[in-house]
Amino acid sequence: MTDHAAFTACYRRPPAVAVSAPGRVNLIGDHTDYNGGLVLPIALPQRTRALLARRADRRVQARSAQVPGDMSYKLGDERRAACWLDYVQGVTAVLAADRQPIAGFDLFVASDVPVGSGLSSSAALEVALLRGLRALFRLEFDDTALALLAHRAETGLVGAPVGVMDQLVCSRGDEHSALFIDTRSLALRRVPLPASLGLVVIYSGLDHRLTGGDYGVRRAECEQAAALLEVRQLRDVAADDPRIAALPDALPQRVRHVISENARVLAAVDALVAADLPRLGALLDASHRSLRDDYAVSLPEIDRLVDLARDDAAVFGARLTGGGFGGSVVIATSPDQAERVAVAVARAYADAVGLTPRVVLPRLRDFESRP
Ligand code: ADP
Ligand code: MG
Repeated sequence: MTDHAAFTACYRRPPAVAVSAPGRVNLIGDHTDYNGGLVLPIALPQRTRALLARRADRRVQARSAQVPGDMSYKLGDERRAACWLDYVQGVTAVLAADRQPIAGFDLFVASDVPVGSGLSSSAALEVALLRGLRALFRLEFDDTALALLAHRAETGLVGAPVGVMDQLVCSRGDEHSALFIDTRSLALRRVPLPASLGLVVIYSGLDHRLTGGDYGVRRAECEQAAALLEVRQLRDVAADDPRIAALPDALPQRVRHVISENARVLAAVDALVAADLPRLGALLDASHRSLRDDYAVSLPEIDRLVDLARDDAAVFGARLTGGGFGGSVVIATSPDQAERVAVAVARAYADAVGLTPRVVLPRLRDFESRP
């Protein structure tokens, strides 16, 4: 059934607007955004679609193709329900706080971004919904302001202490360039992907929602380290600051990851511009080691997936991408090898760890759901 038919079957009238927003893969620069640092994500071809129509009352009716059941609430009555409706409620709550005039609406969403896989289905949902509401109620904000509203929805009512990368790239990114973002100034630069780069993205089959990660703990550690070092954010710490080594517990490693990852993002921009894939690959490998050893957000299964990729002679480098504690890996190879690498690595991983991976990039006709 088409989205249009699904909406009409659900609400007994056609949708008034149909919009979408992409998921994203972060090429490099993880856990830097909430430290005021640098990131380099790319929008995915996979998208979340949102179809909407106005209602005469102040109610919101919501349905997702990914989650069974009808959801409903009244505008102004938004409260956390610990389910996907929180993303919708978070969005309408920030619009109200921002004095954006909306009324009740019916909503249908459907997505081919794998949910909970570190590829930002959450920001794709928020951005698609905000695009739909902007069109439906003729709201006036630009794509950067839209991303900031989406970010406030996720850190606010949803309660996820994320940085601003995901919403910015889902709102402003495209599939053909990496979006260099300085998350402090919000300056953006589009860095075209070289034709000689083949990107592979494999979801590990480990849902980061279910692995109960320590994302919030890492964020708190960064804030504690910044306070002890008397800087606004870890972005502002010099790599050779002698006080880093004297920080308590695991804080020296956490700080080292943030500082070194920012430097790797800058180097990765240069490597993309120069189409220097061995250099890009070495940066991805170093980023993975840093996420695994210094930032401690990987898992043995993810390390295995990265190692299997790196064992392939056609692979330049590979790393965990996204928040960690499960999720996906990004692999740099050449375009003519990408399909073979994706299938071979996913198969070897499935055999080795007994999980069901999913090839997200390149988009393979028969291979999306099972290797
Ligand atoms: P990620 O952003 O890496 O996919 P998150 O945990 O940040 O993982 O967001 C996943 C959550 O977003 C899901 O648990 C669900 O609540 C919500 N979500 C995302 N996409 C959809 C969708 N298409 N339908 C319903 N809920 C969705
Ligand atoms: Mg998310």
